[in-house]
Amino acid sequence: MTNLDARPDSTRCRSAAEPVPVSRLLEPREVPLGGLRAMRVRRTLPQRGLPMVGAWCFLDEFGPERVDMRVLPHPHTGLQTVTWPFAGEIRHRDSVGSDVVVRPGQLDLMTAGRGVAHSEVSLGDSPFLHAVQLWTALPAAVAGTEPRFEQCVDLPVVSGDGVDVTVFVGELGGTASPARVHSPLLGAEVRVGPGGRARLPLRRGFEHAVLVVEGAVEVAGRALGPGPLLYLGSGRDHLDLGAVGAHDEQQPARLVLLGGEPFEDDLVMWWNFVGRSHGDIARARADWERDDGAERFGTVPGHHGERVPAPELPNIRLTPRNRPGPAS
Ligand code: MN
Repeated sequence: MTNLDARPDSTRCRSAAEPVPVSRLLEPREVPLGGLRAMRVRRTLPQRGLPMVGAWCFLDEFGPERVDMRVLPHPHTGLQTVTWPFAGEIRHRDSVGSDVVVRPGQLDLMTAGRGVAHSEVSLGDSPFLHAVQLWTALPAAVAGTEPRFEQCVDLPVVSGDGVDVTVFVGELGGTASPARVHSPLLGAEVRVGPGGRARLPLRRGFEHAVLVVEGAVEVAGRALGPGPLLYLGSGRDHLDLGAVGAHDEQQPARLVLLGGEPFEDDLVMWWNFVGRSHGDIARARADWERDDGAERFGTVPGHHGERVPAPELPNIRLTPRNRPGPAS
């Protein structure tokens, strides 16, 4: 996924001072992605009032719809991309030599580090697609690491009482994903069947958020449907989930649960880059525009030089954006 905003915001990311459980609904923005037939995504992170949840700094949902996805080679720095499809198949190619098909139930994790380029193209003619793509910010010590790509096809699932949980990143109640991330994080898909009910264990030191992607679910006492991100703050040791409505009318529902330790670094996010300063971002942009970005970002095979050009930098110095406290 690429951020194709003509004027992407810069974002400051700073943690909340005190863990206070809150419950705040954040509406998505509709953002067009590139390609001949533009596809629209719903972006719930970053937001002006909430740049991050733990190290999770970007959250796009696309579909469910029949749509061609065609995202040409574009660069990333300082982050990991996490692609988690619910329906449809996407071909991922990158400049570290990966050429794989991304499928439901499998995690695709690309670590940009000092710089990587990739492309994403749906398979088939106008396939039915539904997925989320997330970014995690890398901590300073590994922000400039060598790029790599990994696919995790065997992820742990915990089941009980009409609820199944797939842990794709991090750990939930002792069940851990093999995916290699660099800060304390949680990413899980939760499927709630008719009559399903569960109390999931949470870490008090994490902040959490929930995105419903199908059906309706009762989350911490409130009914939630697809669209907005429910931010739950930190300081919770459990989360109650349940099917909504009369039992004989309940439909299967699905949600994504995100969590992480509040991320302490001040970050500058612009376009597809995460850095620590205006200079980091300006250098990454210049490196992408110079000689097709090959020296720093490498080349994605099979695109014959087609690529997403970087937008113009704004005429201001990019600064980290302040994160409001949890009460605001
Ligand atoms: Mn991307």
